[in-house]
Amino acid sequence: ELVVEQVTKSFGDEQVLADVSFSVKHGEFVSLLGPSGSGKSTLFHLIGGMYRPDAGTFYLDGNDITGERGAISYTPQSPALFPWRTILENVVLGAEIQGKPDYKKARAMLEKAGLAGYEDAYPHQLSGGMRQRVAFVRALLSPQDFICLDEPFSALDEFTRLEMQKWLLNIWEENRQSILFVTHNIEEALYLSDRVIVLSNKPAAIKKEFTLPFERPRDQELLLSEEFLQ
Ligand code: ATP
Ligand code: MG
Repeated sequence: ELVVEQVTKSFGDEQVLADVSFSVKHGEFVSLLGPSGSGKSTLFHLIGGMYRPDAGTFYLDGNDITGERGAISYTPQSPALFPWRTILENVVLGAEIQGKPDYKKARAMLEKAGLAGYEDAYPHQLSGGMRQRVAFVRALLSPQDFICLDEPFSALDEFTRLEMQKWLLNIWEENRQSILFVTHNIEEALYLSDRVIVLSNKPAAIKKEFTLPFERPRDQELLLSEEFLQ
C-alpha cells in the first residue's frame, strides 16, 4: 500500500500542493485527475523521489520512502530513453537491476504495443508516440509492483490510445500491479480505474475521491452520463 500523508510543496512563493493525502492499495488502479498545472506531475516527482516535499510523508507498505528513488517504478510525462541503447535494451532496463531481464516477455510486450520489428532500432528512429509506448512497456516490465504513470497515452493518436488502454487493462488484470495513473482525460480515468482522485486547481488539494460503481468491461457512454462527473 502507498500512503501519501499531508504532502505540501511550494516552488518559491508559489504553493503547488496543499496538504494532499490519499492511499493506493495493493492491486488497485487509481487515477489522479486534475486540470493542467494543478500539480499532478509535481506530486509524481515527489513520489518518485526526484525531490522532497516541504512537509508530509510517503509510505510504501509501512516504510517511509520520502525522497527515495527506485522504491516505486516511476515514468515521467516526457520519459527519457537511452539513445545509445536499442528499444529492446531500453525496455529491460528496470529488470536488469535485478539481474534477470526476461527478453521473451519483453519482446511479447513490445509486439502487443505495436512495436514489433523495432526491437533493434534506436530511440531516434521512432516517433514521439512510439517512444512513449516504449517507456510504458519499460514501466510494466520493471520489478517494482507499484507503478506510477504520468499521462502515458497523451502523445498517442486517439486510435492507438484506445488500443493501449485496453492493452493496459489486460496486462494489469494478469499481473495485478498497483497503478497510480495521471491523466487529464476524464473518460480515460473512468474507463481504466477502480478509483479516481480529483485534484483541485493550484494549490492542489484533494477535491473529490470516488470508487467506480461499475464492473468491467465498462461502457464509456454509461460512465460519462453519471452525475459524478460534475
Ligand atoms: P499538466 O497536466 O499540464 O502536466 P500538472 O498538473 O502535471 O500539469 P505540474 O507540472 O505539477 O502540473 O505543475 C504545477 C505547477 O508547478 C506549475 O505552475 C509549474 O509551473 C510549477 N512547477 C512544477 N515544477 C516546478 C519546478 N521544478 N520549479 C518551479 N515551478 C515548478
Ligand atoms: Mg503533468
